Amino acid sequence: MCGYASEGAPATAEDLMVQFNAAMKKLSGEDQVVKIYTSGSFLDPLEMPIEARAKILADLQSRGIEKLVIESRPEYITSVRVEECLSMIDTEFAIGLETANDLIRQKIIKKGFTFQDFVDAAKTVHDQDGKVKAYLLLKPPFLSEGEAIRDAISSAKASGRHADLLSLNLCNIQRGTLVERLWERGEYRPPWLWSAVEVLKNVSDPIICDPVGAGARRGPHNCGECDDAIAKAIGSHDLTQDPGIFADLDCKCKAVWQKMVELEEQTFGTPLL
Ligand SMILES: [Zn+2]
Repeated sequence: MCGYASEGAPATAEDLMVQFNAAMKKLSGEDQVVKIYTSGSFLDPLEMPIEARAKILADLQSRGIEKLVIESRPEYITSVRVEECLSMIDTEFAIGLETANDLIRQKIIKKGFTFQDFVDAAKTVHDQDGKVKAYLLLKPPFLSEGEAIRDAISSAKASGRHADLLSLNLCNIQRGTLVERLWERGEYRPPWLWSAVEVLKNVSDPIICDPVGAGARRGPHNCGECDDAIAKAIGSHDLTQDPGIFADLDCKCKAVWQKMVELEEQTFGTPLL
């Protein structure tokens, strides 16, 4: 499902600093948080050369930025690297856990690390008073809509105690991926936005969700009429954490979604809609 393999390009420390400096020109005096989404691992020395990492951290510290958010796979989250970040700036370490279920992560997502690896990395960060964010993926391929909902809820419960913030990512269809091929053959449908709402309603730990591509054919979607309203409600929930926001949402497609979730349990993984 991941499109990064076809988007990456080799980059030197100088290339990365040019990119960083260009982005920092857009910083206003009021900005307090900087998020560096490398779509990979900020702490991987092959991906982000150590000298570039050190320069970026020093630059952010000198600007008085209060908080930094970076992403990394757990194997690069060592106590030395965590200290390098935290000694300069309050840092949130975001980890793409995707699911707490090792079978789904290893066999379907093919992520190559275990839930315990995530737990250990989270402890390394917390031991030094850093913050952890865990990304969860709603609806990897080969799961029915109902299985995907249940997996995301149970994953949120299992990982919530190891993370300060959860982020629910809704699977969308990237070019050149297996998911795209499955989708073209009618064997995969991106998650319904109703499913995302169902997950958010059933998680008590802090959880945010940015429904990228909501309403698009390749993105998470409902019937086309209610998508904007639901994406907006999800955005409000991010800020308030109040599941009551979802109480008034309705659309004629909700009953279709409910029935589909129920019937799909009988189709051995073939999507119905
Ligand atoms: Zn609808």
